[in-house]
Amino acid sequence: MPYQPAYQPDAIRTVRLSTATLPLATAISDAKVFTGRQKPMTEVVFLFAEITTEQGFEGVGFSYSKRAGGPAQYAHAKEVAQTAVGEDPNDIAKLYTKLVWAGASVGRSGLATQALAAIDIALYDLKAKRAGLPLAKLLGAHRDSVRTYNTSGGFLNASIEEVKERASRSITEGIGGIKIKVGLPDATRDLARVAAVREHIGPDVPLMVDANQQWDRGTALRMGRRLEEFDLVWIEEPLDAYDAEGHAALAAALDTPVATGEMLASVAEHERLIATRACDVIQPDAPRVGGITQFLRLLTLADQAGLDLAPHFAMEIHLHLAATYPREPWVEHFDWLDPLFNERLETKDGRMLVPDRPGLGVTLSDQARAWTTDTATFTH
Ligand SMILES: [Mg+2]
Repeated sequence: MPYQPAYQPDAIRTVRLSTATLPLATAISDAKVFTGRQKPMTEVVFLFAEITTEQGFEGVGFSYSKRAGGPAQYAHAKEVAQTAVGEDPNDIAKLYTKLVWAGASVGRSGLATQALAAIDIALYDLKAKRAGLPLAKLLGAHRDSVRTYNTSGGFLNASIEEVKERASRSITEGIGGIKIKVGLPDATRDLARVAAVREHIGPDVPLMVDANQQWDRGTALRMGRRLEEFDLVWIEEPLDAYDAEGHAALAAALDTPVATGEMLASVAEHERLIATRACDVIQPDAPRVGGITQFLRLLTLADQAGLDLAPHFAMEIHLHLAATYPREPWVEHFDWLDPLFNERLETKDGRMLVPDRPGLGVTLSDQARAWTTDTATFTH
């Protein structure tokens, strides 16, 4: 068929930003609470970006923060959002650069780029919807489903009995793996919880543990050795998130893979982990590293280094991104965000299925609107 030019340049008409507070059903505690560094978590604050174009296309994206930072993300996004209006929404790389330069003095990591992530993710959602493709397909997927594991059942505020019951429920729901938190001040309690869950789920169900950065190097090595017998898929965040050398030494000393990366707030910070071979499994978070544009750069580096991938949180976004990774990845199942969206992600036989809906495949629910505390719209 002869080539027919079909594309008519489009332009962003509106960028609508909103901030919403999602309350958690119960206060959540990981090791950071038991070491006194943080209070139990009771809510998650979201920054939503909704973009419309002159041709009538729409995209939605989000960023989030836990415990602090939500108002700052929203404030910075409001300062720069006008910059995007009138631009072609398909030129995401150009737009991202423009947004970064609009706030260049606050840097290219952390809060500054987390504020841009919501817009960047909305642009990818919009582009995939224009193409009529799920985001994974727009980017180019290796698979239509991704191995998934449950985290929300294994927090330290839950008793062993509750953790076991939730693990059984997750497995019944088609979620393949179970992750539980460790890092209690009393190591024997940690080991008892891991042993109880391993015995409960049996030897064939993938099991992970997460210390949320609360061990020092000596403790991590001792605990890592004692945990080898449980045949864990990985030990997550055994050390401070920025201790790349410590992670590298630990990963070299243990048979059990070491996972980390969720707390890092830019590709540059991840580059150091990758360059020092600090982990076997890298756990980036697209909203935290500045959006999908940045996340895709990171995936290229991680793949070249031969790392496995298990993105952190936000399964609604990461399911699509993990589906594009050459090595078989994991996606973290958290049902916390379910009330924000009208759609549900399906799990079956241990895997999460990439939805066939275009874009991310999510729309904001009435509940998300009800939890919205402020909005701002930018247009011509
Ligand atoms: Mg974690």
